[in-house]
Amino acid sequence: MAEDKKEKIVAKKQDSFRLPKTVIPINYALSLEPDLESKTFNGEEEIEIDVFEPVNHIILNAKELEISQAYVKNSADSKLDASISFDTEKQFAIFTFKEALQKGKWKLYCKFKGILNDKLKGFYNSTWTDESGHKHQMVTSQLESTDARRVFPCFDEPEFKATYEVTLIVPKHLAALSNGRILNERVDQQTSKKTVRFRKTMKMSTYLLAFIVGELEPSESIFVHDIDVRAWTVPGKRDLTRFALRCAAFTINYFEKYFRVGYPDPDKCDLIAIPDFAAGAMENKDCITFRESALLVDETTATHAELERVADVVMHELAHMWFGDLVTMRWWNGLWLNEAFATFMAAKCLNAFKPEWKVWDNFGIGRAAAARTDALKSTRPIECTVNRPEEAQELFDVISYQKGCSVLYQIEQFIGEEVFRNGITRYLNKHAFANTETSDLWDSLESACRDAKSDIPVRKIMDDWVFKAGHPVLSVSEGKSVGSVQISQSPFRFLKDSNVDETYLVPVTMKVRKVDGSITMQKFLLKEKTETVNLGDNFDWVVINAAGSGFYRVSYAPELIRKLTTKVQENLSVIERFNLVNDSWAAVRAGIVSAENYLEMIKLFSEESDINVWSIILSSLHTIRSLLKGEGREGLKKIIHELCHPLIEKLGWVPADEESVQTKQVRGSLIGVLGTIGENKAIIEHASQAFDDWKKDKTSIDSNLLPAIVNTLAFNGDQSRYNEFRQMSKEAKTPQEILRFLYALAAFRDLKLLRKTMDSCLSEDVRTQDAPFLFASIINNEISTEAAWRCMQDKWDAMVKAYPDTSMVRLCSSAIPSLDTPPLEKEAQDFFAKHKVKSGDMAVAQALEQLRVNVLLRERESERLANYIQKSTNKVTA
Ligand SMILES: [Zn+2]
Repeated sequence: MAEDKKEKIVAKKQDSFRLPKTVIPINYALSLEPDLESKTFNGEEEIEIDVFEPVNHIILNAKELEISQAYVKNSADSKLDASISFDTEKQFAIFTFKEALQKGKWKLYCKFKGILNDKLKGFYNSTWTDESGHKHQMVTSQLESTDARRVFPCFDEPEFKATYEVTLIVPKHLAALSNGRILNERVDQQTSKKTVRFRKTMKMSTYLLAFIVGELEPSESIFVHDIDVRAWTVPGKRDLTRFALRCAAFTINYFEKYFRVGYPDPDKCDLIAIPDFAAGAMENKDCITFRESALLVDETTATHAELERVADVVMHELAHMWFGDLVTMRWWNGLWLNEAFATFMAAKCLNAFKPEWKVWDNFGIGRAAAARTDALKSTRPIECTVNRPEEAQELFDVISYQKGCSVLYQIEQFIGEEVFRNGITRYLNKHAFANTETSDLWDSLESACRDAKSDIPVRKIMDDWVFKAGHPVLSVSEGKSVGSVQISQSPFRFLKDSNVDETYLVPVTMKVRKVDGSITMQKFLLKEKTETVNLGDNFDWVVINAAGSGFYRVSYAPELIRKLTTKVQENLSVIERFNLVNDSWAAVRAGIVSAENYLEMIKLFSEESDINVWSIILSSLHTIRSLLKGEGREGLKKIIHELCHPLIEKLGWVPADEESVQTKQVRGSLIGVLGTIGENKAIIEHASQAFDDWKKDKTSIDSNLLPAIVNTLAFNGDQSRYNEFRQMSKEAKTPQEILRFLYALAAFRDLKLLRKTMDSCLSEDVRTQDAPFLFASIINNEISTEAAWRCMQDKWDAMVKAYPDTSMVRLCSSAIPSLDTPPLEKEAQDFFAKHKVKSGDMAVAQALEQLRVNVLLRERESERLANYIQKSTNKVTA
């Protein structure tokens, strides 16, 4: 009974922010006229609505809009004026009529005015500077999740799908873009403005609309069937669109084939690079907007990671055309369905696009990031309740994207790729142009399983992973009988949490090597807390989470791990090695394994060939270094040298013919660590020389070395290097290079220089889309942690005012865990108790918990590590 009562209260609270369903929109005829000078816009709309029962009010969402006139008409042309009131807390505009509107079709007419803001949401300003230093302005939109209401009064919930006929009235020399292709343009000679009418959109949610006006140049068209695919940039950057266009063409073809569902409402598809953009990109139907670094790239000078990022984002956004735009979550609690799916489909598509990029090995990085957050008490289930609009914004996090995507991959690998695909085709066909709940996906997957005569309980498994927070660690030991193992599950947490005792239905894949040398794969579903699994005969070794698609950690008993790691490169695949290292490092952070044991284990990896495994190892070495001082650090340098240098000796600085991208990246990463925290003189000198050569000829080195070289030079650099990098960031020709040299300004070790970088974060020098990330990097640099944290507190109000809300959340998430001494931790707790971060409650709670984990790690390990390093390095030199 008590449970019921609680649920009712929640339901009522939720309803109060939701629009009634007595009136629904069918079509919007919407006209907007932005005034770039006054930074305002005028709008008019006529919404065709269906009234289901007589009403005296119509409620729409509106925010920061002035509505000057509103009335309704029905087919008999009887006109009823509306009086307009607002509920600002609920973001409602309430239209009240003297007499009730009867059931049937009506048209609601409305005239309004709004603001072109500088906060990178709703309808907003973006600026750019041309080669001669001239500043230009454009306007663009970002409506997800709930900012369509800042542009026009509307039914701003994903479920209220409608069609849209958009008209933009703009200065005649500017390009105007929206979701549909241009139907016609009419220039008014008197006002020098043109009226641009766009094709009616498909039936879709408000958050997918887009309006862009500015001096934009299109690329050549690429046609995929009849779909005209183009990329748009500010003048002079067209050449940087080629790679993204090629990806887009591949992607549309790939998804049509994979989904067996054609491109939704094929018309045109524009990819637009926006100079100021808060997120990475946005899946506005056929009018996809990107931050420049996620779309524009020079293939000849970019690193592999930068190319992959562009491909990945393009594929993610195009996956949304089906998953998100065609079939949409009913409400924001289902956001994960959109984001997890687009993330997952992008990985599949990327894997098909470039099999040699080994996407599924790379996938471990994102999954590990999700698992780091998911090991906190303050984590959340993938799907959770959303009441207020700002709560929707909180769900755009690593749990929705990466954990969501990981559990989809987990189930896909367990039920089989083709069965999964059949389920998805069914789901898209069944719910096209409509909205879904998470359970609709389970229905489709389960019926695909039934068709395949599989009795895997998809719904039960997925409910566990989507509605329960956290994830388990599977402890594996030898079973009592020969040829068996015992597997026990318990929730994995960094901080002890006696309150949790969840069990999960865990899809387990095992790779077993029998004593005769044969290798078999076995699957089973772990249902209980502890189960004994018979592997058949006696076995040599066993890998749990084989092929690495499970979202859980594994802890092997000593006798099992010994056997497994005797030939670690041979017995374990890349992703299995990645998981082994990642799980071990997580166990250090949780206080289960000592850093000393971990350092002993990673010695096994000095011949490691994979970049992802290295990236976990190298980032853990950075953390370990931060726990040490003086002699401890000197000792660690030796350990780093022994671990990393042999491979660099072997690889050299110049890639061999036909070398894999993974090896190129390994070379870059190892040089990076040796040149910075390894403080290897020869590497530093070589880096300096290589950089001089690169300045003369950008093809003189493999581009994958450039990030390492720049980091090395910043880490060891002085004022003149700082000035050089600053200038290079200003003059760079690609978004990647701008950012490379900009972020390097946070990597110097001279506090005076770092203070300059801090100041630039609140100046016109750095775009507000980048400044929060740059500032976080300064806090992450131990030289400036304290100074930057003080500065952040002092300048808090200015930052909140200047930076996009979502980036403020990212800044706090990234900065807080670096404050890992007890006094700074206390300051952080006090500060964030008093300063609320908009749409950031959850992220701040998680960051403060990460901070606790870090403080405990330091307390536990600093001295122990120093002793171990002293002992072991003495041994080495002796
Ligand atoms: Zn997305």
